[in-house]
Amino acid sequence: MHRSLLLTGLTLICLPFFSLASQNTKGYQWPIDTERKLQISSTFAESRIDHFHNGVDIPGSGLKVRPVHSGRVVWMTQARSLPGELPFGGGKTILVEHGDTWSGYMHLSDIEPQIYKNSMVKDSESLGISGNTGHSGGAHLHFFIFQPEKNIMYNPLLILDEKYYTDNKQPEILEYAAAIDDQSSIFKAEKEILLSQDFPILAKILDRGVSSERWGVYSLKISRSNRTLVRTFDKLQYKDGYWRDNNGDSFEDVYFKNYLILGTGFRENPDFSLQASGLRGPGLEKNINLKIKRK
Ligand SMILES: [Zn+2]
Repeated sequence: MHRSLLLTGLTLICLPFFSLASQNTKGYQWPIDTERKLQISSTFAESRIDHFHNGVDIPGSGLKVRPVHSGRVVWMTQARSLPGELPFGGGKTILVEHGDTWSGYMHLSDIEPQIYKNSMVKDSESLGISGNTGHSGGAHLHFFIFQPEKNIMYNPLLILDEKYYTDNKQPEILEYAAAIDDQSSIFKAEKEILLSQDFPILAKILDRGVSSERWGVYSLKISRSNRTLVRTFDKLQYKDGYWRDNNGDSFEDVYFKNYLILGTGFRENPDFSLQASGLRGPGLEKNINLKIKRK
């Protein structure tokens, strides 16, 4: 299934860039009310093994969470999951409506007592305290920007005016692999690899911030003599039963578990150039020649 779906991504050449949620997202602030510089721990559209991460994670417990903009509370729960297509396992969650766009705050340890459904909140007010409720493996705020009418999750880092994180390292290619049925077979770029078929080639690429952060990349470009693949994670739209990226590709078209799918045809054309970057910081650009031999 991976291989047939792949083709939709590979035929894409032109780039649909930067379509922000709407004009009224101007002036959106960082959702943590702090002077302290915080790193983010996860980026938008990273792989979560079988689905896209649909927001940004800011680590830490006991941090004051504020709405990114003034608005109206449209959903608030202490329950374990949300209905519909919104992410499950959010723990204590608040959704705030700002015109046609919503912002969401999950895994809170406490919600302020004056916050209730339909209450109006100012951007200076506190919504609650960051924590570890729901499906969460460590205290953090999972934060997202959603447009319910179009079923679009936007990359919050494109929308917020303030960006309190530092990225001065370029992404790294950790390893390559071939997707052989349901397995990934890891190989080194400089070593020969024997393949009996034209299996899809994968790469584990992580962006670093200031040390060893494990962020997903924001954009990827694979240039080959006969085709080009471009991905940018501006938004994810729920369409025909799947969350899809700018190219209309679903998770399985984009990732094989934690690997980005580079495509097929590398047995014929092993030369390519790879560009990968985060939203900030230096990008990576590399010419690569894979030593794939036919078995
Ligand atoms: Zn998250």
